[in-house]
Amino acid sequence: MKQKRLFWQLYPGLVAVIVVALFLSALYATRETRRLYLDEIETTLIDRGSLVKMQLVDISISDQPAIDSLCKQLGRVANTRITIVDSAGVVLGDSREDPSMMENHGLRPEISGALKGQTTSRSRFSNTLQINMLYVAQPVMDEGKTVGVVRTSLPMDRVDLALTSLYWKLALSGLIISLLAGIVGLVLIRRVTNSLEDLRLGAERFAKGELDTRLPVPSGIEVGSVALAMNEMASQLDRRISMVMRQRNEREAILSSMTEGVIALDRNEKIVSLNDAAAALLKIESPANVIGSSIHELLRHRALIKLLGEAEGGIGTGSTEVQISSVSGAEQSLLINSARLIDSGGEQMGTVLVLSDITRIRKLEIVRKDFVANVSHELRTPITAIKGAVETILSSNLSMNTDADRFLQMVNKHADRMSSIIEDLLSLARLEDEQENGSSEEYPTSNILEIIKSSVQSCQAMADAKSIEINYDADVSFPVKVNRLRMEQAISNLIENAVKYSDNGSVVKIKVEQEGDEITISVIDSGWGIEPQHLPRLFERFYRVDSARTREIGGTGLGLAIVRHIAISHGGRVSVESRHASGSCFRIHLPATS
Ligand code: ADP
Repeated sequence: MKQKRLFWQLYPGLVAVIVVALFLSALYATRETRRLYLDEIETTLIDRGSLVKMQLVDISISDQPAIDSLCKQLGRVANTRITIVDSAGVVLGDSREDPSMMENHGLRPEISGALKGQTTSRSRFSNTLQINMLYVAQPVMDEGKTVGVVRTSLPMDRVDLALTSLYWKLALSGLIISLLAGIVGLVLIRRVTNSLEDLRLGAERFAKGELDTRLPVPSGIEVGSVALAMNEMASQLDRRISMVMRQRNEREAILSSMTEGVIALDRNEKIVSLNDAAAALLKIESPANVIGSSIHELLRHRALIKLLGEAEGGIGTGSTEVQISSVSGAEQSLLINSARLIDSGGEQMGTVLVLSDITRIRKLEIVRKDFVANVSHELRTPITAIKGAVETILSSNLSMNTDADRFLQMVNKHADRMSSIIEDLLSLARLEDEQENGSSEEYPTSNILEIIKSSVQSCQAMADAKSIEINYDADVSFPVKVNRLRMEQAISNLIENAVKYSDNGSVVKIKVEQEGDEITISVIDSGWGIEPQHLPRLFERFYRVDSARTREIGGTGLGLAIVRHIAISHGGRVSVESRHASGSCFRIHLPATS
């Protein structure tokens, strides 16, 4: 629809209202004036007629010449046409004409009305004078009977003349009033539209971002308060935009000074923003060009797809490690942490990825792992040799004296410990190797009960030595897809610990349960328990609760680390619940086999 200016919407209407109002009031005024004027003339004619009637008292109605001369005399003096007719309508006298020449007036409406005894007035065209006249006829009574009629009349052209001049005056004054009202209306409407125009121009400037300009505030309350409100809005917007800009600059400064790469993705996994470090890690030359493209075009990796799926699936945060090849062709390890981006309504609006280059850490880990494996390997042979030699001396009566025997026993015991540590370290190294090179290996399905039985058997001698009973439910059986030997090793480690850290004669229980999509193997003892501060670090390598005591008992500090590794390599996890002096419950959680 074509938009009209406010001025053209208001002004023609205003002018039309003024003109119509003036026209209607002029019409009403002229009609009223005409009516008053005619009333006035009518009253005058009645009065004059009454005066004529008084003159007629002395004249007989049959004295026609006297009546006619009276009419002519009075008509001249009063400047009024006077006609007298008898009861038959015959004209007896007339101030203007010769009565003998005039026709019977009995049928003239005012005369016939008066003959019936009523003073009657009529405005009509005079056939005699050929002009519009106002006639007032009143009966002349004699002894209660109408003997004649006195008619007084004045020409209407005087009324019309007076009214015409009034019309002209009214039209002229109406025109002047319309013009004045039009000009005043024009000025007033212009004043309003000009202030609105100022507001419009101001709003356009605000829309262009010129928020430091201020609108002039007009004196009118309505437009003035709109201008004030718009000025306030502009200053608030200005403040907020400056705050947002400052925050954005701060955020950009923080992001660009970070060594970690940060990438923000929208719900469709398209890049919304990324910092310099992310561009450098992903070898993106012009970061602006990748905004809006899918993250998978830059980083094609199954682990990343899974991570983003988890972030959307409700877990919220997650992390994964991916390998990418650097420009030189060398492998680069990236740790990607993901977190959901939530909007103010609690809805997920995207995901943020934090990329850390862990190539150096991974290299160092490999160096450490190789070193540990190599050292363990290298130590294995001399330790075996030492152990063999000591055992040989101890078993063949080669010993010289009891002191030497005691020292040899000590050497033997420590050689045993070293050999256990080396075996555990080699086990861990093998597990790590397997995890790196073939974690997705499909294992054959075994019955968990069989595995538990074998583990219990391998620990039975140790338990018997401390008169500890090992219980397990022989009825439950779950199929599990595991590396049987490794799982036996893990469960044995837990049973060994339960036996090692319990008093003689206690009971160790093994339970297997399925909870949801997890199979849980719990090894429960009522032994010495562990204080809560140790629990978080219990599965770390070489972490011992009471180093001296456990060393005495023969622990390496590597058993639980091996259990954790085995659980993880099967896609599972480990957990522990323990209270000091009340026993412990170590659990291996494995994914259920469908
Ligand atoms: P270790 O070979 O020394 O037993 P582990 O890694 O198996 O090493 O265990 C780490 C530490 O956890 C142990 O030194 C011991 O203090 C504590 N621990 C493990 N299992 C138990 C248990 N069942 N009861 C009490 N303490 C335990």
